[in-house]
Amino acid sequence: MPVFGRLPVALSHGQGCWVWDVEGRRYLDALAGIAVNTLGHNHPKLVPALQDQAAKLIHSSNYYYVPLQEQLAALLCEASGLSNVFFCNSGLEANEAALKIARKFGHDKGIDEPAVIVFEGAFHGRSIATLSATANRKIQAGFGPLVPGFVRVALNDLAAVQAALDANPSVSAIFLETIQGEGGINPARIEFLQGLRRLCDERNLLLMLDEVQCGLGRTGKWFAHQWAGIQPDVMPLAKGLGSGVPIGAVVCGPRAAGVLTAGSHGSTFGGNPLAMRAGVETLTVMTADGLLGNAAARGAQLRTALEAGLAGVAGVVEIRGQGLMLGIELDRPCGVLLSRALGAGLLLSVTADRVVRLLPPLIISADEIDEVVRRLQPLIKDFLAEPRA
Ligand SMILES: *Cc1c(COP(=O)(O)O)cnc(C)c1O
Repeated sequence: MPVFGRLPVALSHGQGCWVWDVEGRRYLDALAGIAVNTLGHNHPKLVPALQDQAAKLIHSSNYYYVPLQEQLAALLCEASGLSNVFFCNSGLEANEAALKIARKFGHDKGIDEPAVIVFEGAFHGRSIATLSATANRKIQAGFGPLVPGFVRVALNDLAAVQAALDANPSVSAIFLETIQGEGGINPARIEFLQGLRRLCDERNLLLMLDEVQCGLGRTGKWFAHQWAGIQPDVMPLAKGLGSGVPIGAVVCGPRAAGVLTAGSHGSTFGGNPLAMRAGVETLTVMTADGLLGNAAARGAQLRTALEAGLAGVAGVVEIRGQGLMLGIELDRPCGVLLSRALGAGLLLSVTADRVVRLLPPLIISADEIDEVVRRLQPLIKDFLAEPRA
């Protein structure tokens, strides 16, 4: 079905941060399959682990214990300080599970029709419930009626959240991306996150942080909210967790961990041994190779170079983000940069119409960051020097 607007390239194989198309042209990957290929391509630890697992057991069903689920859950709990994990297969599924937890938590508190506070600019997925939580009208258009029970407020406006809570006693949870990805790389500010944590504690609500894109080391800590020194009650994960193998997870702390009970949720594929092995290997390599530190250092290098190189360039509005999740907002729609970047041998994305988004693999080297800057900067400068369309 023609749901994707595709660029005129088919990729054939990759090595590290480089990929080749079927015609043999080489590209530097500053997209990582949208924050998915944490370890880049053809990683020397991940590929043999997956080959080994495929030969042992790919799938067994959740009728039985899956020891690799316990291993990956333990790694996620250790990294997050949270206590329990549900496994699924994608970001929207993780968010669906989070929304079910929010509703059941509300019902368990005696609320008849629990509601969830969500934010302007949010993206949570494309199922009926998660597109209802999403703020983008284009994503919602044609799919009404939307799921009820969402109250939308402005990001980084704590007074607005407080007012929404006062006006809506049926709210059971606050749900946001710690750094909005599709919405244009918009970070929730540290004081805002701390304020939300306080409100949730005062009112016994769930703080649910969608770290599907910004989590798993991308910002230089395991999870982006750790920069604010807080913990969520519910944290959906997906993209980078399996380094390319489809996987999703919801990590919960004590307030939320007991909400779903036997038979109240499930998944056929969720937590299958192949995906779990991908997750265990990804997190193990991240620790062994110091990839959190690399994301922080390479992210700082990238940001510094772009800030210096684009300083004073008319049309550059702001450079935002953390670690290897960076957005360059321009003053005009810049979708044309996608194909121009391809022409320059660079994979990146443009989101929210005007934001160039960089999400390279966490293994990227200092030289490769320099190369990203060398390829990207002239594209942006030349584009902004053209008369406006
Ligand atoms: C990509 C994304 C999703 C949806 O993930 P899928 O795996 O595409 O369903 C949800 N939330 C955020 C923050 C995302 O970036």
